[in-house]
Amino acid sequence: MSSFRADLHCHSTCSDGTLTPEQLVTLAVARGLSGLSITDHDCVDAYQLALPLAQEKNLLLLTGAEFSSNHQGHSVHILAYAFPCKNTAIQELCNRHSKRREERNQGILDLLRNKGMPIDPQTITALGSVGRPHIAQAMIESKYVKTIEEAFYKFLGDGKCCYVPGNPVSTEETIEIIHSAGGLAVIAHPHLIKNSAVVASLLELPFDGIECYYARFGPSDNSVWIDIAEKKRWIITGGSDFHGTVKPDISLGSSWVNAHTFNILYQKQTYVS
Ligand code: AMP
Ligand code: ZN
Ligand code: FE
Ligand code: FE
Repeated sequence: MSSFRADLHCHSTCSDGTLTPEQLVTLAVARGLSGLSITDHDCVDAYQLALPLAQEKNLLLLTGAEFSSNHQGHSVHILAYAFPCKNTAIQELCNRHSKRREERNQGILDLLRNKGMPIDPQTITALGSVGRPHIAQAMIESKYVKTIEEAFYKFLGDGKCCYVPGNPVSTEETIEIIHSAGGLAVIAHPHLIKNSAVVASLLELPFDGIECYYARFGPSDNSVWIDIAEKKRWIITGGSDFHGTVKPDISLGSSWVNAHTFNILYQKQTYVS
């Protein structure tokens, strides 16, 4: 049996992970992975940093990103794979999200200040895509909350009192942009979408795959999504959603795909780049 394993979902310091892209590559090799995709939120900056080291260490690096999108008022994460990082449409989408995040984060800080929890905007720094976990961390440091979960549960989670959605990009447009770049669009962690009508409607969109293996899925979750993917002839992907120390219960490589699945995606990347 082949020992090939590739983790197709993890985050670096270019978004809300705690390891740099280079540290992720080093950890992936130490964990015995043969392939990796770094899927930062709305950002592809990791590749410029990670690619030289991955090549040196013979780790196959598949381009990836996790794009935030909005479908019928619901937040939907889309994994994009196998696109050329320097593609103009992808770069423009990342820039659009960067602007959305800047405005949204300012809105969240304003609401927190109104509630007596001021945060210096300069404390929220990241290499690329600044997200709510960075704000949650700043709230812990200011002793407004004890944990990231508490910050999300009380203030920052979708629909909570200090949540600001910002100007979203629709799921349909996101898929179109990924396809225009020659990439593949995959529904991320579908079990987190609790509204069944939203799921049904998403399954009518022109996705290429579903993330069926995920660190927090059990075997029964997996089979539900595998059945759907097989019926639709979509690619069955998997990854851990590793974030480093902010989500200490998830380790890199705890969910993965085999060589067959990895090659379907990786061959597409070679073809378009
Ligand atoms: P953002 O991309 O800025 O909208 O923030 C969303 C990210 O925050 C998610 O992708 C997770 O990494 C993280 N997140 C969401 N909900 C929670 C939670 N309840 N506890 C910890 N982290 C969370
Ligand atoms: Zn995240
Ligand atoms: Fe996600
Ligand atoms: Fe993720």
